[in-house]
Amino acid sequence: MHLHGSILHDRCHAESCGYRERIDPAVPQALRSCPRCGAALRPAVVWFGESLPDAVWNGAQRLCASVDCLLVVGTSATVYPAAGLIALARERGARIVVVDPNPNPASAAADVFVRGSAAAILPDLLAGLELVSTAD
Ligand SMILES: [Zn+2]
Repeated sequence: MHLHGSILHDRCHAESCGYRERIDPAVPQALRSCPRCGAALRPAVVWFGESLPDAVWNGAQRLCASVDCLLVVGTSATVYPAAGLIALARERGARIVVVDPNPNPASAAADVFVRGSAAAILPDLLAGLELVSTAD
């Protein structure tokens, strides 16, 4: 789930329009207007001060309330409401595994803290879980 949206998409600034399109992040986008309603297009991400989309937020809460293990990667866990998903999962009995280069509020509440960068740790961790293939 993309709680904070996706930089790989632009969307119409008019909330009621709903227009959305995939973009190539390697190609700088000029200021453009929505082909549907004429309002400005903007990155389809949540900016500071904006609320998380209800559907995605509710889905993330349901998921975190039902997992056995929550893998927390690359967050300081200081920005709410997203940071609250860790406590929600823990309250519902999930084990918390945090991967981060530095101790932080997320690691302080973790069952397992793996110190290191996501780039260094995740390939081996996921290969060990047999979620990804390491075959050539
Ligand atoms: Zn529009």
